[in-house]
Amino acid sequence: MAESEIEELQKMIDGAKRLVFFGGAGVSTESGIPDFRSKDGLYHQKYKYPPEYMLSHDCFEDRTEDFFDFYRDKMISYEAKPNAAHFFLARLEQAGKLEAVVTQNIDGLHFDAGSKKVFELHGSVRRNYCTRCGKFFDLDYMKRSKGVPKCECGGVVKPDVVLYGEGLDENVVRGAIGAIARADVLLIAGTSLTVYPASSFIDYFRGEKVAVINLGGEKRVSGALQLNAKVGETLEKIKIH
Ligand code: NAD
Repeated sequence: MAESEIEELQKMIDGAKRLVFFGGAGVSTESGIPDFRSKDGLYHQKYKYPPEYMLSHDCFEDRTEDFFDFYRDKMISYEAKPNAAHFFLARLEQAGKLEAVVTQNIDGLHFDAGSKKVFELHGSVRRNYCTRCGKFFDLDYMKRSKGVPKCECGGVVKPDVVLYGEGLDENVVRGAIGAIARADVLLIAGTSLTVYPASSFIDYFRGEKVAVINLGGEKRVSGALQLNAKVGETLEKIKIH
């Protein structure tokens, strides 16, 4: 990562009045949670069914036990702690310099780091609800449960995450798009920008400055300052004035 790129990013963040961060699974790989599309990501591991199916509404309905085996094994990380990227964003918000975090992640690590305004486009593993009576269950309950988790009323307890084939929460979408549309600087990081519709929300950005911090850097955003680097390692170098 070139020193000049860090300097440019520093200037962009210093000059921002309404900065919005848009992130994906790559934001949490430095916390030890695998993403989908990196070489160590879930899409490069072998399963009986592809991950898109294992995390789909169809799988939840038709092969509920397989769904929960995969979900507990691969989508919940109990030990993961926020990394430098999560902490930087929380500090930036506390300093009044960050409007919002818009994340595709479901791990809840932005909240653990202290961020307050976080739009979790795909929900959170921290919330689980009975599909029959609506009772809330926390992550510990999920952790302790075996097979298909059930409520006392007999209903299946479903994680509040958006599965393939399900729609996004309207209020979360409205909040995320509103924040992006009002932003003057957009910082995108750790996302392949391939998961629809979440990735299309950056098209609402009307400001002038965009920076992308992404390992691989295969997907380019036109006019953006593009850093082919780790997001945590990069943001650790940025000062908050
Ligand atoms: P993705 O796996 O498609 O892409 C991640 C991108 O981040 C890749 O381009 C990769 O090269 C890059 N990357 C990996 N580590 C990085 C790092 N340290 N610094 C910078 N870049 C890094 O992820 P996506 O675009 O978010 O789409 C995957 C979907 O899967 C999302 O919808 C998300 O909900 C879900 N998911 C979430 C988690 C999580 O909550 N932590 C984990 C896996 C998948």
